[in-house]
Amino acid sequence: SSGSDLIRATLFPGDGIGPEIAESVKQVFRAAEVPIEWEEHYVGDQIDPRTQSFLTWESLESVRQNGVGLKGPMATPIGKGHRSLNLTLRKELNLYANVRPCYSLRGYKTRYDDVNLITIRENTEGEYSGLEHQVVRGVVESLKIITRQASLRVAEYAFHYAKTHGRERVSAIHKANIMQKTDGLFLKCCREVAEKYPEIKYEEVVIDNCCMMLVKNPALFDVLVMPNLYGDIISDLCAGLIGGLGLTPSCNIGEGGIALAEAVHGSAPDIAGKNLANPTALLLSAVTMLRHLELHGKADRIQDAILNTIAEGKYRTADLGGTSTTSDFTKAICDHL
Ligand code: NAD
Repeated sequence: SSGSDLIRATLFPGDGIGPEIAESVKQVFRAAEVPIEWEEHYVGDQIDPRTQSFLTWESLESVRQNGVGLKGPMATPIGKGHRSLNLTLRKELNLYANVRPCYSLRGYKTRYDDVNLITIRENTEGEYSGLEHQVVRGVVESLKIITRQASLRVAEYAFHYAKTHGRERVSAIHKANIMQKTDGLFLKCCREVAEKYPEIKYEEVVIDNCCMMLVKNPALFDVLVMPNLYGDIISDLCAGLIGGLGLTPSCNIGEGGIALAEAVHGSAPDIAGKNLANPTALLLSAVTMLRHLELHGKADRIQDAILNTIAEGKYRTADLGGTSTTSDFTKAICDHL
């Protein structure tokens, strides 16, 4: 083939188990004949002055140009005088929403069988604005910033997501009874956007009540949208409902339609290089990237092959109670395609 009909996507294999699970994604994509050409970029060993981090300007440009990418876990190098890798990506690519589809995996038993929800976390401001200081000795202050612009942007994404993914309801998660100004503004923006989507139901749930409802009956929720800190906590809580971070996909949405999918787990240095890592989270993240590209046929096929392999139970990695290697598990997925 000429290669001209291939979609270019940036791939950051990352550190630790990153290259092993990225290899698994490449193999599965080849077997499924996904029309993607990977442009691989590694984290450098020197600080690039243009990004003030170990990520090079060229690698960021690659994501900007391609508009889509997949990122393995990155271990943040210790030392001063540079920005963390994840922070650099978030700031430079303006990754404003973190989206995590969270659904029960057939054949992998947890306390819940019917989880099927999406958490959408505002990712640029709120409690994580990094504005903390000491007022006087013994008194410190941390500023929570909520802006109309960022709140409208994430709310718009949540409703757009609901509409384009056949979802029925968006729940805004908040604590506006206490944080009247900040969470109040967040809710006001959600309401404004909700009016433009009359076909999608809209509700507001207080964060503490939301936690209780999630553990009692996660099937009560569909799409959840929330400010940064609540999103950080709730998205991990939801990952726990389906079996943990090794299984949960995630995708970051940036300004200008950029989508950078990534597994939420770390580089697992304890098992790196041993062919023991579970590639499921990165594979399912890659599936979210395919859905962003509207390659739903390929996405469904790969997702089914992964879920069927896990359900069959013959090939599972150690974290899921099995004895398979990364490569045997990957081969089993390819055989299921
Ligand atoms: P971790 O997620 O790497 O590991 C926690 C535990 O989970 C370990 O026992 C590990 O073996 C296991 N684990 C994680 N992913 C697995 C997988 N796919 N298959 C099987 N087992 C898996 O968390 P950590 O140890 O706190 O962090 C290690 C490094 O990763 C640190 O340098 C940290 O900064 C980095 N990190 C990066 C990201 C990211 O890039 N998004 C996220 C979290 C941590």
